[in-house]
Amino acid sequence: MHPPSLPDRSIEAYATVTERDRLERLRTLAETLSGVRILHVNSTATGGGVAELLRSIVPLCNDLGIDTDWLVMDADDDFFEVTKAVHNGLQGSGEPLTDEMKATYREVTAANAAEIEDEYDLVLAHDPQTLGMLERLDERMPNAPILWRCHVDLTDPIEEYLAFVSAYTDPIDHAIFSRSAYAVIDAPTTSIVYPSIDPVTEKNRSLEDDELAAERDRLDPLSFDAPVVTQVSRFDPWKDQFGTLEAYRTATEEVPQLQLALAGGMAGDDPEGLELYEQVAAEAVDDPDVHTLTDLPDATINALQRLSDVVVQKSLREGFGLVVAEALWKRTPVVGSTAGGIPLQVEDGRNGYLVEPDDAVGAGDRIADLLEDDERRRAFGDNAREHVREQFLLPRQLVDLFEIFVDSLE
Ligand code: UDP
Repeated sequence: MHPPSLPDRSIEAYATVTERDRLERLRTLAETLSGVRILHVNSTATGGGVAELLRSIVPLCNDLGIDTDWLVMDADDDFFEVTKAVHNGLQGSGEPLTDEMKATYREVTAANAAEIEDEYDLVLAHDPQTLGMLERLDERMPNAPILWRCHVDLTDPIEEYLAFVSAYTDPIDHAIFSRSAYAVIDAPTTSIVYPSIDPVTEKNRSLEDDELAAERDRLDPLSFDAPVVTQVSRFDPWKDQFGTLEAYRTATEEVPQLQLALAGGMAGDDPEGLELYEQVAAEAVDDPDVHTLTDLPDATINALQRLSDVVVQKSLREGFGLVVAEALWKRTPVVGSTAGGIPLQVEDGRNGYLVEPDDAVGAGDRIADLLEDDERRRAFGDNAREHVREQFLLPRQLVDLFEIFVDSLE
């Protein structure tokens, strides 16, 4: 296990974007939790939504006086092949696990758990990658509540994979899911917490005109003098970049000058990513208006989400989809699928449009509708900003988590 390096965060920075009452509630809960030592455990320090969340939550908890550590598992590709298969199986697709894969999972999780030496008052482990560690952590710290947070879309899991993870869930005292439909894994108590974005990060903060202009230049040859539709996602089959390409092609029938930006990175725990990226890039190679952009810095992603006319996220499965809130916060309407957490964020006909996950043509039509109506895009953008301000910013999520911590420690 290793601790990732973390940015500084101060709760003061959230005063301009958060209601006073919410910040007061946060401070009160933090006082109740002062002196409590909390450990977060997950499997990657970068890439993907969980790392993104922890990078903000952990330093902010410390700023609020709650002694919080974050440890990332040490593992190699063999382990991540297994956990990716488990992730896919829980989301509804994949081949059965072999005995060898199950053994790899057991060994790596046990070895990581054995490395945790400190004592904590509460442990919050994230996602199926960490489940194999819980028994040992529970033995080591019998008085510490063990919380498990699952960020995966569990609407339609394969039974075998559900059974595989359920064999490790006994030590869990409380499980947290992102939607009530996902609460299919047994725990003594459960709660629903929507994830959130952090409005003060490089990814989400407001950009000055000169900063925006510099990022715009950096994104050349993508031109914002013509319409741009963008997807920001890891290259992953569930994110359906091929469906987005089809939606884009449909939209170009109405808006021929349209460009598509497919920005994506490869998460540290995601060995499939490079292969899929190469397939998508090969499919797009003959169209000069399709731009595949990899490993963009956060400020550039920020500018891209801001400058795009429409963002698309037509995932086939989606635990939550932070990229949706990121785009909406920047007043960019989103055409999204009804998968997972996307419909929590996209209000159909108010801040974007929803289509069925396999309806690429429908997504293309909605993109074209939005591109052809500047006023509607602006109105949707205003609605989008308010929806995220109310529901999907970090202070709201911290209040939810702190309430759970307080209850668990009672
Ligand atoms: N992300 C990024 N660069 C990329 C692709 C993704 O910074 O090239 C970020 C994205 O902005 C978001 C996170 O990774 O903050 C993805 O979270 P999401 O919940 O959308 O999906 P996940 O990857 O967790 O399935």
